[in-house]
Amino acid sequence: MQENPYPGFFIAVEGIDGSGKTTQAKNIVRWYASKGYSAVYTKEPSYLDDQQRLRQAITGALEISSLALQELFIEDRQAHLEREIIPQIGKKAPTAVISDRYFLSTMAYGMATDISFEELWQLHRKIRWFVFPDLTIIIDVAADIAFERTKEKKSEADIFEKKDTMGKIRAQYTALAKMLRNDNVYMIDGSNSPEAIFAQIEPLLDKLVKAKYH
Ligand code: ADP
Repeated sequence: MQENPYPGFFIAVEGIDGSGKTTQAKNIVRWYASKGYSAVYTKEPSYLDDQQRLRQAITGALEISSLALQELFIEDRQAHLEREIIPQIGKKAPTAVISDRYFLSTMAYGMATDISFEELWQLHRKIRWFVFPDLTIIIDVAADIAFERTKEKKSEADIFEKKDTMGKIRAQYTALAKMLRNDNVYMIDGSNSPEAIFAQIEPLLDKLVKAKYH
């Protein structure tokens, strides 16, 4: 894996749907902007390369294997890196790109459907210009809380199935946080208020800025 060789900061925010990722990703963007950086919010899937098959697979209009689905996400990630992330963090002026979901989404969602860590990791090695984030924040909440926050309207049976899936993905994020604890991957308790959660993230941002410039 290629560490971030570019001058700009690259941060990924991860977690299950409704965990509060987007809220915190935007807090991080504001934090960098307040320090004078050109800070950009972006998210995956990026659909920068059209990706009709990925759109259809996500909505259920196209039935494919879980491995084929993750391969489509990885193709989308390649376009995201080449067209959005690297052009931004490659600039000389101080920049920060905050991505709402990145490669740990493929790892966690893929592992929750029984694809191995090694297989998913190998698929990423094929990405030219893959950049490992300077910092990855996983927002951790119970599936029940996340589901309440998304306020999805579904039948009782669908709700049960959805919560079960979200619980499995959450468990994989927990496993990944342990495996990658030496790679600036941090898991934050997302059950508190957005302000309390950001108060846990802010020291990590401060530390990162100091590390990059010293
Ligand atoms: P995600 O991007 O993980 O799906 P969002 O940040 O979009 O999550 O949040 C989903 C919903 O939950 C939004 O309505 C948001 O305002 C709300 N929310 C986000 N963080 C919190 C929090 N810490 N406590 C309560 N509600 C939250």
